[in-house]
Amino acid sequence: MAKKCYLSYHEIDRFKNHAGLQRHETSKHSTYNLLPNHIQQIPESELCHLKDAIIKELQKRLKNHHRAVGKQVFSLHCSENAFVGLFGAYITRYSLCGSFYICSFKGENAIEIIESIFNNNWYKRNYGNGQLSFVRLYIPEEQDISKIDNKKQCSNKNSKPKKYKSKLFPNNKMIIEWRITGFKDKANYEYRAGMLQIRFFLD
Ligand SMILES: [Zn+2]
Repeated sequence: MAKKCYLSYHEIDRFKNHAGLQRHETSKHSTYNLLPNHIQQIPESELCHLKDAIIKELQKRLKNHHRAVGKQVFSLHCSENAFVGLFGAYITRYSLCGSFYICSFKGENAIEIIESIFNNNWYKRNYGNGQLSFVRLYIPEEQDISKIDNKKQCSNKNSKPKKYKSKLFPNNKMIIEWRITGFKDKANYEYRAGMLQIRFFLD
């Protein structure tokens, strides 16, 4: 059955399948972030529990070892209402077609913004003797290797700019995503639940 994009007001978009519609949405409506109207308010105590659970999982990953530095990912089950209750004001994309949400935090103010959501020490862990492990959300320009390399590349007219690892692997932001995940068994029973996933870079 043909799928229609409900976000394109001036055109009637028809797509053969869900995947085609999802690709269209990602390329044309990647900044759409109006919240759907089925969201219900949940008690403050539930939001506090979700914050505590997120901070606990984050702190577990702020390890004090050079081998632990790098990309970090973890997931927690949480309802759509709880996710929107906590991150609703910071959603950078809502996908109508995929029913998923993305929040992207980066830059010099990101630590304070996230702190205002969690009301807690969330981004660093103290190991004593001045040793700290922390989340990286910002790279000062002079330390950004990809940009330095890029300048060198530009001065050499014959070489094409390379694809940089930093582009494929963002190491200066925190992405918080919510979507339904699950699977079907051979008898077509479905097992699905809402999942929050956090990706960040440990410095
Ligand atoms: Zn559209």
